[in-house]
Amino acid sequence: MIQLEGITKSFGSLQVLKGIDLTINKGEVVSIVGPSGAGKTTLLQIMGTLDKPDAGRIVLNGVEVNRLKDKGLAAFRNKEIGFVFQFHQLLPEFTAEENVMIPLLIQGVSGKSARREAEEMLSFLGLGERALHKPAQLSGGEKQRVAVARALINHPSVVLADEPSGSLDTQNKEELHRLFFELRDKLGQTFVIVTHDEALASQTDRTIHLVDGKISGESANPFR
Ligand code: ATP
Repeated sequence: MIQLEGITKSFGSLQVLKGIDLTINKGEVVSIVGPSGAGKTTLLQIMGTLDKPDAGRIVLNGVEVNRLKDKGLAAFRNKEIGFVFQFHQLLPEFTAEENVMIPLLIQGVSGKSARREAEEMLSFLGLGERALHKPAQLSGGEKQRVAVARALINHPSVVLADEPSGSLDTQNKEELHRLFFELRDKLGQTFVIVTHDEALASQTDRTIHLVDGKISGESANPFR
């Protein structure tokens, strides 16, 4: 469960978030939409503990993250949160499998175990045959699925995705969207997706509308 209370954030004189209160339940797939500059990415970064709010409280799975410091915060983030970005951000010199292994190696898992887990995760996402390919040898959709595998390898309880399908064509977009819902149904993870894609937003359980640093409203999907 993610709870945000009274979150504010400014960059210099620009107030980007103006008091955000939001609760997202375990296993929900929630989208955040809004005009460019509304503060969507800033909100996601704060939710993911990559940036700090000026004021307000963030509680993730019962842990008040504002109270965590440096190493404790990094360890918490590595364990609890997976990130997927618009551009996959895979390291080009490593294979798909090695890219997926990285979060495990950071946690101190042995190379052998990490490789086995990465192989399993890539197979689970239908990429078993591509494990030894480098990013340049993969299609856009495959690269994004490797990025999802990397985000999931630590079994985070929360996956935060910033424009995850922004760089994909329609078919790959649809596949990625299906994958998010499949993962939620199978693994029970919570997904928060920032998107300009109205089609994706309308499929999620709930859509949060962010305008000028404030939540202007939300709509629940009656079919989910
Ligand atoms: P988009 O849909 O265009 O990605 P967004 O809703 O995600 O926009 P943010 O990226 O959160 O918006 O940015 C909100 C505002 O904060 C913008 O005006 C942006 O220029 C500004 N901003 C974001 N990050 C920084 C930063 N590190 N330093 C200064 N200004 C920033």
